[in-house]
Amino acid sequence: MRLGLSGFTSRAGLAAVAALFLPLLGAPAGHAAPASPASSASSATVAAPAPAAASFAASCPAAGTVSQWYSATHDGVDIANAVGTPIYAVGSGEVIASGPASGYGQWIRILHSDGTVTEYGHMYHRDVSVGQHVTAGQRIALMGSEGQSSGPHLHLRVRVGTSTTVRGIDPVPYLRDRGVSLPCTPGGGSGRTTVTAWAEANVRSCASTGCAIVSKVYAGQSYPANCWKTGQTVTAEGYTSDKWVELPLNAGGVGYVSAIYLKGDATGGVTRQC
Ligand SMILES: [Zn+2]
Repeated sequence: MRLGLSGFTSRAGLAAVAALFLPLLGAPAGHAAPASPASSASSATVAAPAPAAASFAASCPAAGTVSQWYSATHDGVDIANAVGTPIYAVGSGEVIASGPASGYGQWIRILHSDGTVTEYGHMYHRDVSVGQHVTAGQRIALMGSEGQSSGPHLHLRVRVGTSTTVRGIDPVPYLRDRGVSLPCTPGGGSGRTTVTAWAEANVRSCASTGCAIVSKVYAGQSYPANCWKTGQTVTAEGYTSDKWVELPLNAGGVGYVSAIYLKGDATGGVTRQC
């Protein structure tokens, strides 16, 4: 199911571009740390990695088995299943291509808010057209075996930016950073969502103010969130809560922030309990 769609005329060219992108693996574009507030006594002495701001909570692209992983000779992952298996948008965004494509038979490309593009190939039916806005988990196509393909599967490629010639990044860490591990179950997901802080607050290694500060959240910034749990009761800013929300950290691992500092309901809009 190898796909040689476009972009490379020589092994040397491929290696050069791969090397260019290797440092990005595991830390795709869009993970820039939020700007620090101009002044804050409570944050002055803490140099902590930021949570994974500005990425989005991904949805499972399709049910099936991974029949081919990303490699030097395969720019994407193949998810194999029966013809007609639904294919879903990995994240919300704008459809920038939908139609016939060399090698792919048909393809769909979606530009996401963090500047990454997800690319879907080989489907026999497409639901969306160029210019359309789609939401994460929205059905966009049905799986097929069109184009250069040896059996029904989805070829999922991820590129940084809208170029159709630059080599893609590994979709596995890209999806994992956004809460989806392959193979995945559509709609099942990880329960991951997004929270928005309304005040600056510390992110700690466990759900207690006695735990180490591992990061911070900033007013008005949104962050991916995994789940909520009950922890130490905190009183601050006129509110009391024992709910803490687990956030994935850019540096790996997770941290916890008191739900007091998050917009929304008692758990900051996070429905899944840890
Ligand atoms: Zn493929």
